[in-house]
Amino acid sequence: MSRLVVEQSVHEKEDVFARTQHIIRTALHKMGYDEAFYELLKEPLRLLTVRIPVKMDNGSVQVFTGYRAQHNDAAGPTKGGVRFHPDVTEEEVKALSMWMSMKCGITDLPYGGGKGGIKCDPRSMSAGELERLSRGYVRAISQLVGPTKDIPAPDVYTNSQVMAWMMDEYSRIREFDSPGFITGKPLVLGGSQGRESSTALGVTIVMNEAAKVVGIPIEGSRIIIQGFGNAGSFLAKFLYDAGAKVVGISDACGALYDENGLDIDSLLDRRDSFGIVTNLFEDRLTNEELLIQPCDMLVPAAIENQITEANAAQIKAKIVIEAANGPTTMKATEMLTERGVLIVPDVLASAGGVVVSYFEWVQNNQGYYWTEEEVKVKLEKILVSAFHNIYQTSLGKNVDMRLAAYIVGLKKSAEAMKWRGWV
Ligand code: GLU
Repeated sequence: MSRLVVEQSVHEKEDVFARTQHIIRTALHKMGYDEAFYELLKEPLRLLTVRIPVKMDNGSVQVFTGYRAQHNDAAGPTKGGVRFHPDVTEEEVKALSMWMSMKCGITDLPYGGGKGGIKCDPRSMSAGELERLSRGYVRAISQLVGPTKDIPAPDVYTNSQVMAWMMDEYSRIREFDSPGFITGKPLVLGGSQGRESSTALGVTIVMNEAAKVVGIPIEGSRIIIQGFGNAGSFLAKFLYDAGAKVVGISDACGALYDENGLDIDSLLDRRDSFGIVTNLFEDRLTNEELLIQPCDMLVPAAIENQITEANAAQIKAKIVIEAANGPTTMKATEMLTERGVLIVPDVLASAGGVVVSYFEWVQNNQGYYWTEEEVKVKLEKILVSAFHNIYQTSLGKNVDMRLAAYIVGLKKSAEAMKWRGWV
């Protein structure tokens, strides 16, 4: 199988961790919290690095490095996905755990943020190797995680199968069935209706609200989606079905653009198991070229640092909805905001996943399961209110939506720390 190439090299590789610290500091300052709050929130409370030996199919043993970061557990157990990707680093996992705290704070979930990652290339591994890696990771972190401590979930290149292996391994270690240990599970193992498409559904909910405040109707508008993974592909389908013109999509191998709109149903049918479809087309653009094509809304739904100082001036969209974690650098955020582009930040736009993960955990804990309709209605209520809370904060404090989201998101952890007497 070919190696996964992620087209990131031409971009500035901004330090996502330092960027996150900077925004946290600014937000706490705006809210009037003192230095002690920043000291506790500027990095995860706990970070575990593990080395996982895996028997490969050819008989050799490969040792993989994995991480689990727990940013802050004042407001409740920590929560966040596990990423399998060749570019996973400690710094990235730390930043991702901090972003999870923001997502949980914004949506008022009884959690703090956590995140995990394994540096590996899942596209070049067999199912057996991935299963052994997933189980090895759970054995390595089992002391630190659990349904009332830290609850993992899917993230980039992990799916319900990986969650099922991890849940099974955890249940064997603990010697009791533990569905609430992990979310994003298959339905038959206690997964929630609507979880798989929940990040994308969340993006459409906040997109609707953003479109209303900017005054662009979704129907008929031209939308570019960078990334055709879990979030990007479901989103393309929802928007296509809602009558929007999805003019551009991309995956790790390249991008497709058609000003008349792409046939999303046919592209979805032709994907491989990693969501790759652009390699079937001769006439394709690079991911970088796609971002600057004409459109009304741009949805980066892939990885970090895609909209940078180098391309921000050429972005044509009036609204940028960050379905990926950390796709826009600080300088690019400044440049776009100055030009009047509304950026709906990642911690809000991609929060649908963790909200439905929370619903899944609640259903596991009570052993009573909801319909898809109930999940959708509850998700919409939470995200519409989060959007307007952040939008009003941004207007009231005269700050961009990202800083406003951090102001709203940090409040819960900060107040919980105060009540617990930590600060
Ligand atoms: N990995 C997703 C995120 O970054 C979901 C996390 C979760 O469901 O806990 O938001």
